[in-house]
Amino acid sequence: MTPLLLLALLQTAEPPIRPSVALGFEPGADSSLADWKQVSGYLNALAQRSPNVRVDTLGRTTEGRPFLLVSITSPANQQRLADIKRAQALLADPRRLSDTALARIRNSQPAVILISNNIHSTEVASSQMGMTLAYRLATDPEWRSLLDSVVVLMIPSMNPDGLDTVVSWYRRYKGTRYEGGPLPWLYHKYIGHDNNRDWFMLTQVETRLVTRMLYKEWFPEIVYDVHQMGSNGVRLFVPPFQDPVNPNLDPAIVSGINLVGAQMAAALYDAGMTGIAHQQTYDLWWHGGFRSTPTRHNMIGILTEAASTRLGSPITLALDSVRQPTRGVNYPEPWPGGTWHLGDIVRYELIASQSLVRLAARDRANIIDRFVALGRREVEAGLAGNPFAYILPSSAEQRDPEAWAALANVLAAGGVEVYRAAEAFSADGQRYAAGSLVIPMAQPYRAHAKDLLEPQHYTPVNDRPPYDVAGWTLPFTMGVRAEVVNAPFTANLVKVDSVVVTPGRIEGSGDVFILRNRTNGESRAVAQLLAAGQSVTMLGDSLVVRGPRARAILSEQAARHGFTVTAAREAPVGATGKARQRLPRIGLYQPWTGNIDEGWTRWLFEQYGVGYTTLHDADVRKGGLRQRFDVIVLPDADGGSLDRGVDSTRIPLQYAGGLGESGAGAVSEFVRGGGTLVCLDGSSNFAIAHLNLPVVNVLAGEASGPQVLRFYAPGSIFGTVLGGVEGARSPVTLGVADSLQVYFENSAAFTVSAPARALATYPAQPLRSGYARFQERLVGKAALVEAPVGSRGGRVILFGFRPQFRGQTHGTFKLLFNAVLLAAP
Ligand SMILES: [Zn+2]
Repeated sequence: MTPLLLLALLQTAEPPIRPSVALGFEPGADSSLADWKQVSGYLNALAQRSPNVRVDTLGRTTEGRPFLLVSITSPANQQRLADIKRAQALLADPRRLSDTALARIRNSQPAVILISNNIHSTEVASSQMGMTLAYRLATDPEWRSLLDSVVVLMIPSMNPDGLDTVVSWYRRYKGTRYEGGPLPWLYHKYIGHDNNRDWFMLTQVETRLVTRMLYKEWFPEIVYDVHQMGSNGVRLFVPPFQDPVNPNLDPAIVSGINLVGAQMAAALYDAGMTGIAHQQTYDLWWHGGFRSTPTRHNMIGILTEAASTRLGSPITLALDSVRQPTRGVNYPEPWPGGTWHLGDIVRYELIASQSLVRLAARDRANIIDRFVALGRREVEAGLAGNPFAYILPSSAEQRDPEAWAALANVLAAGGVEVYRAAEAFSADGQRYAAGSLVIPMAQPYRAHAKDLLEPQHYTPVNDRPPYDVAGWTLPFTMGVRAEVVNAPFTANLVKVDSVVVTPGRIEGSGDVFILRNRTNGESRAVAQLLAAGQSVTMLGDSLVVRGPRARAILSEQAARHGFTVTAAREAPVGATGKARQRLPRIGLYQPWTGNIDEGWTRWLFEQYGVGYTTLHDADVRKGGLRQRFDVIVLPDADGGSLDRGVDSTRIPLQYAGGLGESGAGAVSEFVRGGGTLVCLDGSSNFAIAHLNLPVVNVLAGEASGPQVLRFYAPGSIFGTVLGGVEGARSPVTLGVADSLQVYFENSAAFTVSAPARALATYPAQPLRSGYARFQERLVGKAALVEAPVGSRGGRVILFGFRPQFRGQTHGTFKLLFNAVLLAAP
């Protein structure tokens, strides 16, 4: 439909138009995908014509598109949405709810549910399904009659940027051999598929918009996250999930999830569908996904995962090529095989969504009662202690005040109540200064706070790995001191909405400045100083800064980011290394494989003002890198994927093939010519092989051999010890604490021979949070290595862990900043 025709239709007061009429195709039809303009245009038009539908813009996406929330309910409820929201806030926090108020609200309050589509952009069916769901709920008399009892919130796409990325790729290659194939880039500008792993850290704009809506505005009782998985298995996973269950989940959350999942499966089988499975792959351990973070907020979190097509194109599977369980209680009717269309996924997802709407409408009062009871139980559990509170000692007692503030702000943005002590106080026999932050556990979102602050102890069930990572303890990843308090205490506490650092300043006088380089803020300042041509020199454990603009830059940065600078009239004696006077020319390699770690690295560099140039395969292969760059960063990727990339049968030629031999040769020539190569985790194997480094990744062979004998750590936090290094301190660890917790996700561990040296090694019993099988295999191995190469000052820095993992690891960002800012020749 042309925009003009759509406009003409809007101006009449006619009933809502069907998606198929507005789009010119039925949502889910083979080979037809609506992009964001079409999806959002349709929903806006529907809202114009239907008193049941409202569209709100929550904000703008990373790339500037409108991010929408649709609400669908009865016209009477639409008229009193503000009252409904206010009542939801009371239900979510029963401390503020009297019995009379509860009785009154319970009489008239609809259940509130949220359906969230298309967070993973290649899982495209739900973005199409949402239009039909909204139309049906708004027009079908049977569904409309339920809408007095339920408010259906729907996010039509959790990543509108990505929907457009995927749809335009699909349209471009439709009818070619690449139809429905992989994309060469990420479908979220920075974090691709990790956009569903950002739900407690909240680093991206989309996550923040939705989090605010969930825990500060709407407080839905049930959240349903609609996904797709691989093509060859069961047709649809619905809960119950498989074990284990995170210890912070209330039993009523677990059973509530089971109830909704069983309702969905029953509705699907009632409608004659097949291949619906429970207890597959997905567990209740992890925190951080869109279906898991709400479960720490007393909300029932539902996930479904449908078998995928090739984007809009159908696939055909013979029965014997389908990997599915035999018939049983968790899988009462296998799928017979055949052709699987986008429209099939849409149909399954519609039935699942509708069954949730029906359940919520009919079970409204129970849902409200359960929500209130869950909040009450959390408060009671916090009052009972175990623990009673967490304390983040004042910023003066923290190594990096900005990381301390960031941790408090992550909690506060997630709806957790954070308090600041107005005066010094004692708790559990320990003294805390005024300005310390207190997180009492007697609050409705206790489970969320506790799960983020305590160490995880994952115990495998049937030797299965966790679905996602095993540990995520924020004080460890962020390098923030946090104390557990088990007994009640009194303190003068003031609730804070967000925490800002106390402004730092320049102490002393003179035009020579000394930085201790302990904070990430100082790395940001160093990047800015170097970019402005100021002089930065290593001196023991500090940095000495000089130059005409140094004072202005440092006083502004210290004030904003909370670190202290010492000024002196003369430079201290003994400055080692040469003075740097420009920002190293940093190349960040971006493979055509949609590498998420590259995206996180790029995001981190942009957050901290570290300038870089993106390098693609052709830029590397043509050589002469040393003339253009001082530092090259290879993101985490396995060695083979860096060498070979994606095969040209699957992706257009200009994106195929990886670095290849010529690229590997060019990287090697760069290092021998005096360049610094920084390898993040898996890419270490690439450097070890191509540069013949005297380093062995002792875990490289772990992918083969019997599983029970393999070392295994699927996302855990380990302690490391710095030092033991002979000779001058490496710039890579300058200002970093002697013991450091690192994020390890099936990572690397090294043995080294001279002239390579270990900068950090694993101590005995290194596991701090998560899970590790055979952790003793890490003891004494190197986590971080520096290897000089050739005679011209070249070197390779190997990270055997993830220094910027998912934007969470503030405690190890500095190692990466040092590596790119200070380690270049
Ligand atoms: Zn997904």
